[in-house]
Amino acid sequence: MNVFYLIILFMLGSSSASFLSVVTVRSHRSESIIYPKSHCDNCKNYLEFIELIPIFSYIFLKGKCKHCHELIDRTSFISEIFLGCLFVIAAFQPSPLDEIVIGINMLYLSLDDLEDTQVSRCFLIFFSVICIILGHPRLLYLVITIVLTLVLLLINHQEKSIGNADIEFCGALVILIGVNSTIIVVFIACVMALFYLLIHNNYQMKLAFIPFLAFAYWISHLFHCFIK
Ligand SMILES: [Zn+2]
Repeated sequence: MNVFYLIILFMLGSSSASFLSVVTVRSHRSESIIYPKSHCDNCKNYLEFIELIPIFSYIFLKGKCKHCHELIDRTSFISEIFLGCLFVIAAFQPSPLDEIVIGINMLYLSLDDLEDTQVSRCFLIFFSVICIILGHPRLLYLVITIVLTLVLLLINHQEKSIGNADIEFCGALVILIGVNSTIIVVFIACVMALFYLLIHNNYQMKLAFIPFLAFAYWISHLFHCFIK
């Protein structure tokens, strides 16, 4: 495949991730996406052109604001690398657009969860609809999955053991990839989350679990695509 084409895809992916980061941060602050211009949260200086280039701005500025040298959150930088790579990998898949749509949706939900562990209900429903469209489930399978998800949400409403958004996300995954693959994804996500808690030595922290589920999904999905 043409290298130039892959570079363009990578830039498109990383720019989309950069935009999604801005959207999630500003929507949680109830700010406009367009105004004010991108600025440093600490010193409020507007970002110059060089500071707006995804990935490279973070590397050139060594992860710090050019003006006040405050550390920049790495989430956006990691997201830009992830979505850039995903756009490139998608080009080698039978249905590139499906991969990209799922990638963008999962990244948005992950960033949304990372902001304050509160995920937009509207976007979760939108993600579920996308999973129904791309998963082509049989009607009976779809109805059973929706009913079981609602039952789990009802049980969890009293116990509050895990986040409702995590249950809804898994329900959407069951529609997209089936029960067995979803169990594998949840298992990988739990192992990663456990390691995360072990590293931070804090078992009381409120963990955003959707990023783990999304990352586990891509690990198992890429394994299935390239190795199996
Ligand atoms: Zn600054």
